[in-house]
Amino acid sequence: MRYRWPEGYHCAVALTFDVDAESALIFREPERAARSLAANEERRFGVRAGVPRILRLLERYGLHGTFYVPGWTVVHHTAAIRPIRDAGHELAAHGNVHESLDTLSDGEEAQVLEAQLDIWKSYLDLRPTGYRSPSWELNAGTPALLKARGFVYDSSLMGDDIPYHLTTPSGPLVEVPVQWLLDDAPMYRYVYGASNQIADPDRVIRMWAQEFDGMRQENGCFVLTMHPWISGRAGRLLGLERLIQHMRSTPGVWFATVAEIAAWAGEQETRVVDAAKGTTRP
Ligand code: ZN
Repeated sequence: MRYRWPEGYHCAVALTFDVDAESALIFREPERAARSLAANEERRFGVRAGVPRILRLLERYGLHGTFYVPGWTVVHHTAAIRPIRDAGHELAAHGNVHESLDTLSDGEEAQVLEAQLDIWKSYLDLRPTGYRSPSWELNAGTPALLKARGFVYDSSLMGDDIPYHLTTPSGPLVEVPVQWLLDDAPMYRYVYGASNQIADPDRVIRMWAQEFDGMRQENGCFVLTMHPWISGRAGRLLGLERLIQHMRSTPGVWFATVAEIAAWAGEQETRVVDAAKGTTRP
């Protein structure tokens, strides 16, 4: 077996949701964010309609998801985030105002991390153990900054499709990897006037189901990344429900939060990547 999962499972499945709300727009296009009601409302749909709908879907199937939430969303949409915590899902960090880490110095990165942790503590009285970087951008020094602040795992890199370890001066940080194929944004996100087309949910679900089938054979870690303002649309969630039904009808699938996967992976002998040098062992 390529990777050993608990209780003889063949693979792991994590359903993850990045609850960006307006934060990414504010970071990337501050002038448009200040001016455009339309652009803000498109993104507020996620916390207003998407999140409650996603929570109802997960509840129907008895599943726990992982929700990565920027500090800005926690502050401005606390009432939408609290029910996620109360339903027992995992809440984890996702930047403060969706800062792209490649634009920050180590010192600025540390400040942004501290600010996030303060917001989590004061608004929801919790300290997340998981982190996903905004736009999956990560610097060589980021794992050390995370580990030093008590984070157990990151879920932003694409170096494998099973968990691995990133070395830091204070011990290994678990990486639970992601990939673009399993992100709803390149499939569904529509930018008016651009050449991208809205994908047919049937095609997207077929691609995701095929990747799941392959990952199960390969003892992989299937981490699906969705955004409530994109995937929270009614028909797309019907598609997600079909995918959940397909995965549940397949034997040997461990549905878990990313924190649960990371807790397991932290105990396993596995590939180690030196985060600072970029070298790999074995
Ligand atoms: Zn995001």
